[in-house]
Amino acid sequence: MSVCEVCWSSEARYECGICKRRVCPAHYNSEKGVCAICYENLCNICGTKIAVDSCIICGRLVCRDCSVELQPGIRVCRECYANIDRILREEPRLSYVSRFLRGNKKVDRN
Ligand SMILES: [Zn+2]
Ligand SMILES: [Zn+2]
Ligand SMILES: [Zn+2]
Ligand SMILES: [Zn+2]
Repeated sequence: MSVCEVCWSSEARYECGICKRRVCPAHYNSEKGVCAICYENLCNICGTKIAVDSCIICGRLVCRDCSVELQPGIRVCRECYANIDRILREEPRLSYVSRFLRGNKKVDRN
């Protein structure tokens, strides 16, 4: 028998669709087909990819595909990015974000 690679005690019955770890039922999310570790790190937007960072505006975990990197290590999710002008206008505490926008091409909205 193979042992769960998360708890190292129960029998592994599933394979994570992302990291390929073998895990026990307690450490497997059957809805997403991923292990408990990957599940904790899933992108909060698409819910299928591992997040690389969190959005500096809404704080949600985001993967590369669902975010825009304004500066190295500074990411904004696509949803916040699409409304960033309004968000920065309404949230004065986020005004510092605008300096990361310089040099970034804005999304075209007609
Ligand atoms: Zn386990
Ligand atoms: Zn995994
Ligand atoms: Zn995503
Ligand atoms: Zn966001």
